[in-house]
Order: sequence, then structure tokens, then C-alpha cells
Amino acid sequence: MVRKKPMDQILAMIGECKNLLILGCDGCAGVYQEGGRKQVELMKTAIEMAEEVKKGRKVNILTDVVERQCESSFCASVVNPVIHNVDAILSLGCGVGVQVLADMYPNTLIIPGHDTMFIGVEDRESGMFHELCKACGSCLLYETGGICPVARCAKSLLNGPCGGQSKGKCEVGGWKKDCAWVLIYNRLKDRERLDLFTVFRAPKDFREMQHPREFSASGG
Ligand code: SF4
Ligand code: SF4
Repeated sequence: MVRKKPMDQILAMIGECKNLLILGCDGCAGVYQEGGRKQVELMKTAIEMAEEVKKGRKVNILTDVVERQCESSFCASVVNPVIHNVDAILSLGCGVGVQVLADMYPNTLIIPGHDTMFIGVEDRESGMFHELCKACGSCLLYETGGICPVARCAKSLLNGPCGGQSKGKCEVGGWKKDCAWVLIYNRLKDRERLDLFTVFRAPKDFREMQHPREFSASGG
């Protein structure tokens, strides 16, 4: 999940750059309508207007969108032909996209246009995004009816609810959010799999979440 940085922060990072490429991402950021073609064009207009009004100057702005900014070959095909004409790239991808671009073009200023928040999903009815996974490295969703206690329990508990749940709501945040372990209990009960609810789960090996992590594409 990404969200647009405040415009004054983006303008401050652009500084005195005269030639800018705004690069969107049609991957996660595009799917959730933060980094797609429309957002790139809106950002172009917003920067042009702000630069003219606040600084009385014109910035030359190119725009494009790649299928996935986390994939360097996709970025190369779009950015290589124009990189010599730009002072900075404003990324409308996520933090991974920004870092891929920064590695590919170390002599060019790469500006993050987004704050990267979490791995989650949109509830289209409420217009809210919810964190669903913390990429913990050893997934236990089989035992929890497909509801992640690591991400969705405020205390990341692994063995059932704490004493802070009341009527299915979590004390953290003032009993507004569902207690993840009550959701898990209800899900497992519906599936007649409460045997999984009583399985004891040993403390998590948080070394698997220790940063920075690496993973071999060959599985080795
Ligand atoms: S247990 Fe939760 S945090 Fe860990 S991989 Fe599965 S969904 Fe992600
Ligand atoms: S009330 Fe439920 S969701 Fe909140 S911290 Fe306790 S177990 Fe986790």
C-alpha cells in the first residue's frame, strides 16, 4: 500500500530541478490507483501549476508508466532512452521501485512520491486499506482459517486472544477493530476445524523477519 506524499514535500525534493521524469507503476501502485497513468498526469499538472505559482518557473516534465517498477528490465526499456534528458525521476511506485531506479541510475536524483505503508488490500465499500500480511517468513494461515494473527492482531499473538478483547473487539485503538483471534475462532468454528484453534504454536522465530532479508530465486 502506498499513499501520496504531501505536495509541499514533493516540491521541496524537486528543488531546482529543471527536467523531470514522472514514472508511474502499473503494478501494485497502479492497481490501487495511486501510481497509474491518470495519477502520473495529475501529478504533472499539479507540479507545473505549483512551480509556476510558487517559484515562477517552468519545469520540463516527461511522463511514463512501467508495468512494474520493481522490475529493472521494465524500467530500463522506458527510462534508458530519456535518462540523459532528465535531472530527476519522481517515482509513483513503492519504496522498492525507488530503490531499483536509484541502483540503475546512481547519478540521477530519484524522488519518492509515495510513502510505502504496508502489504494489504482495499475494502472497496469503505474505501479503506487494511494490512493483511507482515511477510513474516513462515506462514501459518493454514492453522488460522486464512486470517493472519501476525498482521491483524495488534500484539501479533499466536495462541488465541488476550484479555483485551471485549465483545469481539480489540482494546488497542479503543475497541473499534475486530479482535483477530475472535475472527479466527469464528472462522475455524464455521469450518468445524476448532482442533486447529487449540494447536499450540511455539514462539515465532523472528530471525526470519530480520532485515535485510534475502531469498534465492532458485530456492537454494
Ligand atoms: S503468517 Fe501472516 S505475516 Fe506471516 S506470511 Fe502468513 S499472512 Fe504473512
Ligand atoms: S484483543 Fe485480540 S486483536 Fe487485540 S491484542 Fe488481544 S488478541 Fe490481539
